[in-house]
Amino acid sequence: MSVLDSPSNNGCNSIYIHVPFCEKKCTYCDFYSIENTEHIDAFVGDVIAEIALRLQNITQPVQPSTIFFGGGTPTLLTANHIERILHALPTPLANAEITMEANPGTISPEKLSEYRSLGVNRLSIGVQSFNPSELEFLTRIHSREQAIDAVHHARKAGFDNVNIDVMFALPSQTAASLSATLQQVLALGTEHVSAYSLIYEHGTPLFRQMKRGLVIPTPEDVDAELYELVISTLTSAGYRQYEVSNFAHPDKECRHNLAYWHARDHLSVGPSAHGLLNGERYWNHRSLSSWQRLVRMGTLPQANTETLDERETMNEFVFLTLRSDGIPVDQVHRRFGFDVRTALGARLADWIQDDLIADSNGVLRLTSHGYAVCDELTVHVLEACDQAWESSRAGTQTNITATE
Ligand code: SF4
Repeated sequence: MSVLDSPSNNGCNSIYIHVPFCEKKCTYCDFYSIENTEHIDAFVGDVIAEIALRLQNITQPVQPSTIFFGGGTPTLLTANHIERILHALPTPLANAEITMEANPGTISPEKLSEYRSLGVNRLSIGVQSFNPSELEFLTRIHSREQAIDAVHHARKAGFDNVNIDVMFALPSQTAASLSATLQQVLALGTEHVSAYSLIYEHGTPLFRQMKRGLVIPTPEDVDAELYELVISTLTSAGYRQYEVSNFAHPDKECRHNLAYWHARDHLSVGPSAHGLLNGERYWNHRSLSSWQRLVRMGTLPQANTETLDERETMNEFVFLTLRSDGIPVDQVHRRFGFDVRTALGARLADWIQDDLIADSNGVLRLTSHGYAVCDELTVHVLEACDQAWESSRAGTQTNITATE
């Protein structure tokens, strides 16, 4: 079965564990984490309890093929913590992609070797920039040198699947400083690169600085130019862009994220974790104490659930696949009853002609130029698909009425 096939009919193959601790909060970050690490040991016990609770309540087979330790800073956990969590998961894990997010300020060669020997086989290193003043602006806890060492230590520990996260559109960033960061990424030769534009998330210290006029966001046109620089640098160096923000060497795409982008089921545990099971989304309580209290009472620690209707499911599927590795035309037809090519009509021919979209192997995929203007394209594609879906439903209704 292709990874693109319908969700929910192949069990749940992806597990996410949210680790809500950081040594120090970065001013731009709105992921849930706290700086008080004295609760880590108790947290690990509670995560194991939530895994058991979720497995008791789930109605489908769980066969993990991807596991992702995210956060927060998972590398604040010891190897023993990770081992205990992995033992709580359904087996076998031998062929699973097991990713751990890593902060260069919280790792050591010994720690990485221990993680690797437990079966962790993919490391996602939060570098953000190799420029010292940009790192300072972002309030990262690590230096440029520690970030470079992190990749070398990962290699020595046996990791052959390493991602680096970088950020662009920082207020002080120039094309030259971004280019220098990207050249350092290329020199390190990691298999995967994720590149994100700096977002001023509501409620963060950075957002407040912006509101007070202490930080001026990068203008949109400069942001777009920097994004194009990222795309051209990485794709010219042999990375394939397979999502708006993600680039990989052949066969090194992040399988876990692909499962999200194809709206496949994923079981998620930990405070603030979001999961999808049997078409139902759930999200856990964000605060560590609320989450912990419910887990200890033997109650699923979720704040709420939501089930998307067919129209919402279709819109989400088209949105996610367009922005990742392409809309599978036959599958949309099978699941939602309309033809995407017909829905897009003449515009599709124009986009293909302008090298924004490629139509190959039954998939409509953004090209590098298309990714650069993907927000605009996404709006048009979603509008056209929504109308086509409505017409196909109206047709179905008419047929039913006529038959009656
Ligand atoms: S280390 Fe990562 S998760 Fe923690 S505050 Fe910084 S960006 Fe957020």
